[in-house]
Amino acid sequence: MLTDLEIAQKAELKEIDEIASSVSIPDKHIRRYGKHIAKISHQYLNELQDKPDGKLVLVTAISPTSAGEGKTTTSVGLAMALNKIGKKSFVTLREPSVGPIMGIKGGAAGGGYSQVLPMEEINLHFTGDFHAISLAHNLLSAVIDAHINFDNELRIDPAQLYWPRTMDMNDRALRQIIVGLGGSANGYPREDSFVITAASEIMAIICLSKNLVDLKERLARIIVGRSYDGDFITVKDLNVQGAMATLLKDVLDPNLVQTIEGTPAFVHGGPFANIAHGTNTLTATKMALKLSDYVITEAGFGADLGAEKFLDFVCPVGGLNPSAVVLVASIRALKLNGGASKKDILEEDLSALEKGFENLKVHFENIHKYGIPVIVALNEFPTDTEKEREKFDGLCKSNSIPYERSSVWAEGGAGGVDLARKLVELVDGPSDYKPLIPMDLSFEEKLDKLAKEIYRAGRVDLEPAAKSKLRLFKKQGVDRLPIIVAKTQYSISDDDKKLGAPQGYTFKVRDLNLSAGAGFIVVVAGKIMLMPGLGRDPNAKQIDVDADGKISGLF
Ligand code: ADP
Ligand code: MG
Repeated sequence: MLTDLEIAQKAELKEIDEIASSVSIPDKHIRRYGKHIAKISHQYLNELQDKPDGKLVLVTAISPTSAGEGKTTTSVGLAMALNKIGKKSFVTLREPSVGPIMGIKGGAAGGGYSQVLPMEEINLHFTGDFHAISLAHNLLSAVIDAHINFDNELRIDPAQLYWPRTMDMNDRALRQIIVGLGGSANGYPREDSFVITAASEIMAIICLSKNLVDLKERLARIIVGRSYDGDFITVKDLNVQGAMATLLKDVLDPNLVQTIEGTPAFVHGGPFANIAHGTNTLTATKMALKLSDYVITEAGFGADLGAEKFLDFVCPVGGLNPSAVVLVASIRALKLNGGASKKDILEEDLSALEKGFENLKVHFENIHKYGIPVIVALNEFPTDTEKEREKFDGLCKSNSIPYERSSVWAEGGAGGVDLARKLVELVDGPSDYKPLIPMDLSFEEKLDKLAKEIYRAGRVDLEPAAKSKLRLFKKQGVDRLPIIVAKTQYSISDDDKKLGAPQGYTFKVRDLNLSAGAGFIVVVAGKIMLMPGLGRDPNAKQIDVDADGKISGLF
């Protein structure tokens, strides 16, 4: 069997101009990065305002295994399959982060015969968006320390700084550090930390900003810490929003690439789905909606995180009107949710499969609460047995859950044609999308509704740190912002050990953080890793490049 990289390297790519002209993007809005990648000016969207929108389809998943259940693969495959049945389609995805690529084996640009290309570039430096975001982020870090060093006019309390440093690498040694060592010429020694670039608030801001003016306003609102008097200190107080926006100027422009079958794709922005909203930029999705009949987009992690944030936050904020949801399931993840141990999930186990199906039912029911039609896609893995697939078929039928098998990983678009046909039927039917959590509810009401209706908790408990933050946010008048929950992706609950369909438990909130520039309150439930580490045997050891620049071992 060929690896993802080998499949990608065998593919024949079209020149990016051909992809751009297939959706009629005018030359003046195209900035080429070599033959196969281009940035499309975000301002092009203004010119498209009067065109009608295509249909927006969200791809999400059941509670996954740590290897991922194929949301990206299904998104890419489905866009190609729609193409095959004569629909004009576009796929919009997040940009991969390099840290995890060096860490664990597993792609972020799809897999098998459903990938976006050029795979190496997309997975590595691409158009430099992550670099620019890291630099803008670290500029702010440097400005904060310089300000404290030179008289600290704003009276910033070094013990109450919220703004970390950032880097796009898995490096556990940087999780907790001390900066400013080496005497008074080097500043003021204080505790600091690093987060991976995908976790930077600037990443979330990029994904939500409409234009450079909006970007600057959002950057200006970022809260970096507090003064000795307890007041919030913002980027505006430090007056570096202009310089940060300058570094970020090109990042606002969506990156145009292609699928392995030549479908247009925007791969743009890459926020985490726990401390941020987990979807590609609004600009890319909105532009794609103007350029095609169907836009397939993916939200990170399981439906309790990704789909919830998409339907309760991204769509209302961005004015998007989604038409349908595809819920990806895999036999192996169902077995894991049904109690099979990680090392056994590749063995046939019909009873674990049946038990784990409860997890799918919860996600399916949850999405229905948004008034939006859902179809389940069974992402077929080579390790599934035919008995297991039949069992799955029976479970879907007896629970009246519409589903279709998908073999886009093995076959490309051809493996998704049945799914695409069903999806088109679904999209043509009624949809009455409405967010579940109205923005105007109080913080407590929002969290209570979310925890009970989506996470199936019995009650919510705010620990003292979270309570005191809520008092502070109320005092500062920011407590009614939308909420973004940071919690484990492995369970619908706040506990990664509670697999399947837990209910009635106490949902515990440890802390609250404010992302004032992005415009949400992060509700921290459980321990959230913002700076991953490399394993004992990182994938980096497999990666190589030969004398001609040909890369191997990426995946
Ligand atoms: P997600 O977006 O849900 O995290 P991906 O689509 O990135 O999942 O897939 C995760 C990994 O699993 C990738 O390495 C991909 O190549 C692989 N994969 C996805 N679908 C299949 C499949 N049907 N069979 C085998 N491997 C698959
Ligand atoms: Mg993915």
